Amino acid sequence: MSIPVPQDFNKVLYQTLAEADPEVQQIIDNETYRQFSGLELIASENLTSLATMQANGSILTNKYSEGLPGARYYGGNEYVDQLERLTQKRALEAFDLDPNVWGVNVQPYSGSTANFAAFTALIQPQDRVMGLGLPDGGHLTHGYYTAKKKITASSIYFQSLPYQVKKDTGYIDYELLRTNANLFKPRLLVCGGSAYPRDWDYKLLYEIAQSQGAYLLCDMAHVSGLVAAKELNNPFEYCDVVTTTTHKTLRGPRAGLIFFRKDRESDIEARVNAAVFPACQGGPHNNTIAGVAVALKQVIDPAFKQYAAQVRANAQALAKKLGSYNYHLQTEGTENHLILWDLRPIGLTGSKIEKICELAHITLNKNAVSGDTSAVVPGGIRIGTGALTSRSMYEKDMEVVGEFLHRAVEIAGVLQKEAGSKLLKDFVAKATTGDGEGRKLIEQLKADVKDFATKFPLPGVPDTSVIKAPAN
Ligand code: PLP
Repeated sequence: MSIPVPQDFNKVLYQTLAEADPEVQQIIDNETYRQFSGLELIASENLTSLATMQANGSILTNKYSEGLPGARYYGGNEYVDQLERLTQKRALEAFDLDPNVWGVNVQPYSGSTANFAAFTALIQPQDRVMGLGLPDGGHLTHGYYTAKKKITASSIYFQSLPYQVKKDTGYIDYELLRTNANLFKPRLLVCGGSAYPRDWDYKLLYEIAQSQGAYLLCDMAHVSGLVAAKELNNPFEYCDVVTTTTHKTLRGPRAGLIFFRKDRESDIEARVNAAVFPACQGGPHNNTIAGVAVALKQVIDPAFKQYAAQVRANAQALAKKLGSYNYHLQTEGTENHLILWDLRPIGLTGSKIEKICELAHITLNKNAVSGDTSAVVPGGIRIGTGALTSRSMYEKDMEVVGEFLHRAVEIAGVLQKEAGSKLLKDFVAKATTGDGEGRKLIEQLKADVKDFATKFPLPGVPDTSVIKAPAN
């Protein structure tokens, strides 16, 4: 016999979301429609599974568990300990790692906190770091600063000298990196990026790090799903520490992981664990860790290898389609899930294409391309195929997506003429409230995108017929 729901001040605890908070429910419904009716091309995003979302939304959100399995600061962690150990085991298995050589901390709230905790574990405040510069495809947390401001904690608390890609080819300039490392003498060399369409030479990076007595950290956030599927080079062969987010090509919930190599320094495990908690974080988000565990089980499944191979095949098919219009892609193509499209040769900026695409329900982001002089007006856009592949799109579908993107460029040309200036604000005004040809073409593109996108399933929603367009 079940205990009846109380009729007092606790009644609210038993209502569904739709009953308790229709306003939030409506926002979620609208976002569901947006994801279903649009094309998600943001390279750092993906669409996670129903099971992952169920774990993420579970009762585990209630539990405090500061510390590690078997050594908590709170009682009642019998099952949370099981969960965290299972997640650690799956994380090592997903990347084919020997538990005698590698350990993992699964508690980071996100990729940024994972990176800051890894820095904290490996080096001292004001030590020197070198990572790929943000305008060259690196991430903010790898030491980014500008001439005017130290932007992130990684440049506020550490001395940073970024390395670059070659301006002519877009590939990492390893020789210049070696020369500058000899001069700068970093304590930590960071590899991995957010907008680099090529694979990494971990062996060479390790040699450079070794020559300086520096640690080598790989932030494989973007490509971790492809690494797990052995579609790309393996950073674990050379690096001391490997960090990742869990929500990009790994297709889990939003969180981070830190892998550390135990056979080079005996205290590294203790240092990484102490850096996560109590140095940088408080209690782990156990509901998210459960979501990570579920996603990792899916990564270990052979089907994930097919997914990862398709992500790459789709990126290549899309690159080929864009190439057929003679567009310039940085590095002339891609080896992973992302494409960096240089719009400067056709006289456009990333902001303009991002805006048109957004109005037509294609989501992507403006991005700096090598040689950009202003970070405010980046000359390119970044496109990824992780999410579209999760919607079961294949190479033939990338042809259609490539054609939509080509139409966006053509519309930009029309709008630029209508605006009569190159200013973004005039362009946006014509695109959003104009009554000219450009605006009509955007509406047509939006309708075609919707027709196309709604033919594909949406992960997490087994019955798409329940998805409703917003009332307004
Ligand atoms: N590292 C890399 C390479 C990233 O691309 C990102 C985010 O895009 C992060 C770290 C930060 O992850 P999060 O947003 O989870 O903090």
